[in-house]
Amino acid sequence: MLRFFSLSSGSCGNCYYLGSQDKGILIDAGASCRKLVKMFKENNIDASTVMGVLVTHSHLDHIKFLGSFCKKLHKPVYTTAVIDEVLAGHSFTSAVIGPYRNIIPDGEEADISGISVRFFEVPHDARQTVGYAITMDGHRFVIMTDVGRVTEEAMGYASRADTLVIESNYDMNMLMKGPYTPELKKRIAEGCGHLSNDECAAALKKIVHPGLKNIFLCHLSENNNTPELAYAASSSALQEAGVEKGTVHLRCLPRTYPSPVFNL
Ligand SMILES: [Zn+2]
Ligand SMILES: [Zn+2]
Repeated sequence: MLRFFSLSSGSCGNCYYLGSQDKGILIDAGASCRKLVKMFKENNIDASTVMGVLVTHSHLDHIKFLGSFCKKLHKPVYTTAVIDEVLAGHSFTSAVIGPYRNIIPDGEEADISGISVRFFEVPHDARQTVGYAITMDGHRFVIMTDVGRVTEEAMGYASRADTLVIESNYDMNMLMKGPYTPELKKRIAEGCGHLSNDECAAALKKIVHPGLKNIFLCHLSENNNTPELAYAASSSALQEAGVEKGTVHLRCLPRTYPSPVFNL
């Protein structure tokens, strides 16, 4: 059985854990080491079973604590060649990341201590942003956070997932009526920004398949969304796609505090 939790999810910071009894992996390091260690302790997760940290992109809400993860946890960092280069030159990571750098080859499956990992590129306004398809103990887990739109390739991975973590960032009405400048609204809503509740719901309608057990909506906006709106959009899309109640667990991940530990 696999366990999954988020430490926080959104522009305030992103960090996710996926693991079994004997191995696990972190995705992004946008929450503090202290928070992570506390969460591990409270849930009897042995930090020595963490095999590495995957990085989706170099925005601060995803890498702010990567340096301290390296310094305190001594875990290898895995990412693409492009993101690796950005991290090597980034003021938050350049001084400490050296010995921890590992590159996942393009188009290939990387084996991280028995955890198989592939990346796929997604449109977002960092130098490069990726989603990950992770297979652990036969469970297919796909995460795509910070995605301007869902590409065919991303759709392909998600359509084979047992568990999907997907961005549901903003409600279009709230964004348009909200306090952001026209430039920022444009940046968020264009294809290289974030995914709206409706875009997420429309993608889920196509993605949903009999093997899909869990959907976690992530990276909800503080100003332009509510968990209720995000949930309602995706929930009605699943209903429209003919998904019977109770067959897929749909949940929103909290922004500023750790989620429960979910058994997948
Ligand atoms: Zn982000
Ligand atoms: Zn981002």
